[in-house]
Amino acid sequence: MLINLRGNATQRQNATDALKMPDENRDDVLKQFVWLASESLGIPGGFISVIDDSHQFIRAAHNIALCQTTREDAFCRYVVDSGEVMVVTDTLLDPRFTTHPLVVGPPRIRFYAGAPLKNREGVILGTLCVTDRVPHRFPRKKIRMLETLARLAMTFLETWHSAGFTDVATGLPNRQRLIRHLRLLSTAEQRAPLRLTLIDCIDMPRAYELARALGMAPVEALLRDIGGLLRERLELAPEDILYTVATGRYAILASAEGRFSAQNVVDKLRYVSARPEDGVAMDLSIHAGEVCFDPTELPAQEALRRAVSALHEAINLHVGARSFNELSDARRNGDFRLMNDLAAALQTGTGGLYLVYQPKVSLPSGRPVGLEALIRWRHPEHGELSPAGFLPVAQFTNLMNSLTDWVVGETIRQLKIWSDTPCLLPVSVNVSVSDLSRSDFTDTLEARMAQAGLSTSLLGIECLETEKATENPAALANMEGLRQQGFRISLDDFGAGYSNIGYLRQMPIDVIKLDRALVSGLTIDPGSRIIAASVIRMLKDLNYVVVAEGVEDRETLMVLEAYGCDQVQGFYFSRPLPPAELEKWLQQQPQSADPDILPLTGNNLTLSDDAHDPGLYN
Ligand code: C2E
Ligand code: CA
Ligand code: CA
Repeated sequence: MLINLRGNATQRQNATDALKMPDENRDDVLKQFVWLASESLGIPGGFISVIDDSHQFIRAAHNIALCQTTREDAFCRYVVDSGEVMVVTDTLLDPRFTTHPLVVGPPRIRFYAGAPLKNREGVILGTLCVTDRVPHRFPRKKIRMLETLARLAMTFLETWHSAGFTDVATGLPNRQRLIRHLRLLSTAEQRAPLRLTLIDCIDMPRAYELARALGMAPVEALLRDIGGLLRERLELAPEDILYTVATGRYAILASAEGRFSAQNVVDKLRYVSARPEDGVAMDLSIHAGEVCFDPTELPAQEALRRAVSALHEAINLHVGARSFNELSDARRNGDFRLMNDLAAALQTGTGGLYLVYQPKVSLPSGRPVGLEALIRWRHPEHGELSPAGFLPVAQFTNLMNSLTDWVVGETIRQLKIWSDTPCLLPVSVNVSVSDLSRSDFTDTLEARMAQAGLSTSLLGIECLETEKATENPAALANMEGLRQQGFRISLDDFGAGYSNIGYLRQMPIDVIKLDRALVSGLTIDPGSRIIAASVIRMLKDLNYVVVAEGVEDRETLMVLEAYGCDQVQGFYFSRPLPPAELEKWLQQQPQSADPDILPLTGNNLTLSDDAHDPGLYN
């Protein structure tokens, strides 16, 4: 270890570590310091070096060709070890140097004067020195000048490092510093597996709310307090470094065998609150993610990315701690790329998105009375994707509103194409509560229909996630507005998991779509029949139009008709079809004026297989 005046081993190491790493901009300034020293002291050569346990690193040099040397061979080690200026007016007259390799060999140093680079904590990191190939006198005045220049250079270095490597709010080493440490460790001779643990401490939306209401000062006080709290609760030793890597997010880099596992950290931080004197108290919500790795094999940025991935996994799964897992990481990365592609597809309109349309058939006439638009994606790499392949991920992004806009636009375009043909039927689109919460949703939809010269009665809205809508006044207001403007509102997926039907009466809806879950067991399970019969009766008593989804066979159809269901939709009639195929399907539907004699069947365009039995229903 370095011998110096004060400061413990870690302080020394951290300080020298930062300086040992080359940094072009910083080292340019150091070169100017060396030039200034050499010019003002009248000694042609000079350099600034950093010394650790084993080596001397030259950070900046002027008129002297000197590279890294061993610590043993460094003139400067005498300065570092003593903490004092050292002047050797003639090396050949000083027994310590007469046979020194840098004296007898290049660069043949005859004169040396070096001053220590001592930081605020008194830790000596290296030297600023001037040298020549000939002896010199070096009066006291010049010694003082050299000392002053060394102090100035050190002040510069401290400012440089504290500005770039310290988090302003918490005063802790920041992410850049962490990356530097990781890089440094990657060149270590000894392989020691490390663990990087990230700790998320606060609920960010709450912190932003706080900042909005009270300004940044209380939030910064909170962040500082958390730093102290973590040190205390995790019992960090002075040499354990706590980093701030983002607002409210801290990191510990330690041995993989050590005690800072993500789970341990979470266990130690349960039920902790921050109560800064000059801030606002907040219960911490702790999540931790960790990655264990060999720093000589894993690049610094990748180690950090993996720890972030683990942390986000913990946050998303609502669990305390998670270790990095390659499989889920790959899945998430895949999801992320998919969402990037979706964003691009929605923006350019050329990314393979298209709509298919599934007919809704009226009972008992069997006449097609409407269509449902359903999205599909022909992805350049992944091929045909159904909504299940991308909507569940998209729902966690802000893409759903753009997706709805795209679907509405495409539906309107198609309605216009069909407007003067026998194929014109009302088309409904699926919208989520986040669409309905947009204040301009109703007006925009109405304006788009008006611009296309289409009646609002041609566009239906199938409202997904209905239970959420009841808690959202803006969504309810939009539904009411849409209904008043003549759009038909359906409630989708009725019977799929919601037990509370009290919410129905609060909602301005015309149509209720029975979920496939209610419909699929009808032919085999008497219990399902009883439930379906009572649900349909109740909904009819409440004056709703009842549509059953997922009708795949004739028996189900007949049961539903017997129970008084108004419309049906399902593979028994047709799968969702692209426009051209749908047109053919519609053309093949018998056009009889008497609804009673219309056969309730599919036809050869119906892709349902053995479930389809046209003859039986006639
Ligand atoms: P949903 O609104 O309940 O749509 C009905 C789903 O059932 C469709 O699946 C349809 O293809 C499928 N289906 C229709 N008849 C039958 C049948 O007889 N048997 C079976 N097994 N399935 C049948 P799809 O197209 O995969 O859509 C799934 C869900 O994705 C939709 O459920 C809807 O919630 C959502 N979705 C589809 N398109 C859009 C869209 O443009 N926007 C939004 N926000 N959601 C959409
Ligand atoms: Ca639907
Ligand atoms: Ca549905």
